[in-house]
Amino acid sequence: MAHEHPVPPAPQRARGAAAANDPFPGVEKVRDGLWSIPVPLPNNSLRYVLVYVFETDRGPYLMDAGWNTDDAFGALEAGLREVGTDVAAVQGVMVTHIHPDHYGLAGRIREASGAWISLHPADAELIHDRYDDPSDLLTRVAAALRRMGAPDEELDTLKNAAMPVRPLVDPVVPDVLLEDGARPEVPGWDLTAIWTPGHSPGHLCFYEARHELMLSGDHVLPRITPNIPFHPQAGANPLADFLASLDKLEPYEVEEVLPAHEYRFSDLHTRLEELRQHHRDRFAEVVGLLRDGPRSAWDIASSLTWSRQWDDIAGFMRRAAVGETVSHLKVLEVDGIVEVADGEPALWSLSEKVAG
Ligand SMILES: [Zn+2]
Ligand SMILES: [Zn+2]
Repeated sequence: MAHEHPVPPAPQRARGAAAANDPFPGVEKVRDGLWSIPVPLPNNSLRYVLVYVFETDRGPYLMDAGWNTDDAFGALEAGLREVGTDVAAVQGVMVTHIHPDHYGLAGRIREASGAWISLHPADAELIHDRYDDPSDLLTRVAAALRRMGAPDEELDTLKNAAMPVRPLVDPVVPDVLLEDGARPEVPGWDLTAIWTPGHSPGHLCFYEARHELMLSGDHVLPRITPNIPFHPQAGANPLADFLASLDKLEPYEVEEVLPAHEYRFSDLHTRLEELRQHHRDRFAEVVGLLRDGPRSAWDIASSLTWSRQWDDIAGFMRRAAVGETVSHLKVLEVDGIVEVADGEPALWSLSEKVAG
C-alpha cells in the first residue's frame, strides 16, 4: 500500500518544496544522463512519485514506476520523450519496494518495452497474497485488528482499507531478484542495492558510487517520516528493522539523496538522526501513556499526538496509525520495557522493572 504518513513531520527545514500547494515539479536533470520524472499519484497527498532515469548506450533504465493508471503512464511517456528517449526503449525497471506507487506500473512498462523488472526477494514473495488473492491476508488482517482493539463497527472498513488500490497494481512477477549488495547491470553506472527493510520488508536503497548518490526510495524522505506498519506481512519487528536500516546508510559518502517523493536533498546524515529522534520521542510518548495502567494498542494510538485529530484520521490512515503504534510497542516489548497480555484486545503495560 502507498505509505500514508499520519505522524507529524520532523521540524520543517527551510526548504519546503514538497508542500501540498507548491507547484508540481517538472522533469529535472539530476546529473549528466540522469533525470527525475514526477509521475502523478491519484488522490494522494504525496502527489507524485519521482521516477529516476539512467541513460545508457543500450537505452534508459528506470528506478521505480508509479501507479498503474493511464495518467501515470502518460506522464512517464511524456517525461521520457522530454529527455530524448521512449518508453519502448526502456531496458530495466529497478523497483525499490512493492507499494503500488512504486511497483504498480512496472508491468505495463515491461509490456511496452520488454524491460526486466527487479525487486528484493522479501518483497517479491508478498505479491501473491497481497495483490493476486488477498482473501487469506484479509482474514489475518482482521484478526490482527481485533487484537489491536479495533471497535467492531470499524472492523470491516479497516480490514478492507487497502483494497481500493488493488486495480492500480499490475501484479507481475519480477524478472530479477536483487539481494543486499547486488549490482544491477546498468551500463556506465556504478549501482549497488542496499537492503533496508522496515517501511517494507524488501525495501531497497541504491548507492551510485561514481557520483556519490543515494537513491533512497521511501526509506529516507526529506520531510515526511515513512510509515512503519505492523501487519501480517511486515515481519516480527519492523521498526527495529527500520532503525537498523537507518544505521546501515551511515557509512556512505553521499553528495545528494534522491528520494522517491518530495525533493532531493544533501544532508543524509542529519536526516537519519532526525528520523531516529522522531522514534525516540515516540517511544517516550508511548511509555508515558502506559504509566496509568494497561491499554490496548487502539487506545494508545488514539491518545498519541498525530498530525491531525484522531477523529479526522479514517480508513487506511487509521489502520496505519494503529499499526505504527504496534510497531513501537513491539520494539519496547523486545527491549523489556513493556509487556503484553494476549487477547482481544491484547493489553500492553509497562514491565515491572520499568513500572517500579
Ligand atoms: Zn512505500
Ligand atoms: Zn511511496
